Amino acid sequence: MKPATDVFIIGGGPAGLAAGIAVRQQGLEVVVADGARPPIDKPCGEGLMPDGCAALAQLGISVPEELSRPFRGITFISGGLRAEANFPTGTGIGVRRTVLHRLMVERAEAAGVSLLWKTPVTALHAEGVLLGQELVRSRWIVGADGGHSLVRRWAGLDRFLCDRTRFAFRRHYRIAPWTDSMELHWGPKCQIYVTPVADDEICVALVSGDPHLRLDAALPAFPEFAARLRDAEPSSAERGATSSTRKLRQVYQGRVALVGDASGAVDSITGEGLCLTFRQAQVLAECFVRGDLRRYQKEHRKLARRPAMMAGLMLTLDWKTSLRQRVMRAFDSDPRLFSRMLAMHVGALSSLDFAINGLSLGWHLVTA
Ligand SMILES: Cc1cc2nc3c(=O)[nH]c(=O)nc-3n(C[C@H](O)[C@H](O)[C@H](O)COP(=O)(O)OP(=O)(O)OC[C@H]3O[C@@H](n4cnc5c(N)ncnc54)[C@H](O)[C@@H]3O)c2cc1C
Repeated sequence: MKPATDVFIIGGGPAGLAAGIAVRQQGLEVVVADGARPPIDKPCGEGLMPDGCAALAQLGISVPEELSRPFRGITFISGGLRAEANFPTGTGIGVRRTVLHRLMVERAEAAGVSLLWKTPVTALHAEGVLLGQELVRSRWIVGADGGHSLVRRWAGLDRFLCDRTRFAFRRHYRIAPWTDSMELHWGPKCQIYVTPVADDEICVALVSGDPHLRLDAALPAFPEFAARLRDAEPSSAERGATSSTRKLRQVYQGRVALVGDASGAVDSITGEGLCLTFRQAQVLAECFVRGDLRRYQKEHRKLARRPAMMAGLMLTLDWKTSLRQRVMRAFDSDPRLFSRMLAMHVGALSSLDFAINGLSLGWHLVTA
């Protein structure tokens, strides 16, 4: 019997939509089903680094200027010290999650993706997926159903090489951004990310290991930032989410493949989650055409390597305050170190430059 579609994607968040678009770019038929209705919101730092913008452009999506706010680099602020650098090329953008979702839905529709909203998938079936009692036959199935993926469990892929969780709370504030950088404020075992998302709005996300630490309770530990927020009105409700570091043993089983947070994640501190997701989607679509999911497994691992390493480095700074302050002083004494670290972060540095920068930073730490 002929399947109803070539690819059925479970989940219509950024990963599911990106995969849907990429699959259409390869000329296959695709259905995306999501239990929710668009535009779908989700707590997020809402920053897209230049490599994330490039990956989005490959899917045929550019975010209009009037719906976003560019940022030219990253600033670390910790214990009275600052380190600031621009991206080596390009700019990042801050964009409300709902806006990004709407743009992705529009692009998916234009590309010919069949979209089913308010349609939760209830089980996998030998020939496709079940929407309640209804069977939809499909050659390939994609689990793009987020960090708490049921598809991952149904396919027997819930086996992790590492699995750590932190807790996040996000809220928007009505205030003109005071900087054209994305700020990372380091506090006692927590961070606040500040992303300009419009000319009169910022997105604030607090991330820590404590599930009970909310934004208002954390603010006194960030006096400089709290002073800026004093007269700013919240423009959205505070919403919580988990931020995971997760690596799966395997990201496919038979003809079921996982993409996005369902397939593992790097901690949100990197701001690279969406970029990773968009890139996975492109590779997965190519692998469907070749009929080779083993290649997807290999490429998936390669794509995660750099962001996972950067997340590891940054989380070490979270755990060890004294080391963080030494690193901040090293950045202060030689600002090129931070510029190169940022270049490394967005994939604009060769492995050799990477190693040289590591040695140089090590030397500064030893001699500081
Ligand atoms: C605090 C925080 C800050 C972050 N900041 C950034 C940042 O600044 N930049 C960045 O690039 N990344 C950031 N990330 C990461 C980014 O948000 C994620 O990588 C991204 O949301 C992953 O998208 P996804 O589509 O895989 O999952 P989700 O966005 O979780 O989407 C999953 C979708 O699947 C649907 N679904 C679930 N089950 C079913 C079912 N059975 N049937 C049908 N549909 C189903 C859900 O309704 C949902 O729409 C951050 C993450 C956190 C937690």
